[in-house]
Amino acid sequence: MTDDLAAALRQFAARIAALDPPGSAAVVEVTVGGTPVELTGSAARALCEALLSYHDPRDRGACDHCGSRRLDDNFLCADCRQPSGVFGQLIRERAARYDGPPPAVGGQP
Ligand SMILES: [Zn+2]
Repeated sequence: MTDDLAAALRQFAARIAALDPPGSAAVVEVTVGGTPVELTGSAARALCEALLSYHDPRDRGACDHCGSRRLDDNFLCADCRQPSGVFGQLIRERAARYDGPPPAVGGQP
């Protein structure tokens, strides 16, 4: 994992530094798993922007009930097991009205 991160960071730094004027000095050194990666000022700013704009696809907001941020694809909270959000409210309302399956008609399978 650290090798992948160091390689990605080196590639990122090189890609941004290639746009800098020749001779631009590194202003930040980040060490990943013992591997130093130097960033120019523009690469450091670009990394900050990239980090701040990242949105984890698993991030579905906070649970309406307990505030946990661990909601699954169905907005079911992994901590309090309650459905969250508008979809959760719809599920709770439907569940409250549910009387079970309808009785069999005609008595034949
Ligand atoms: Zn919850």
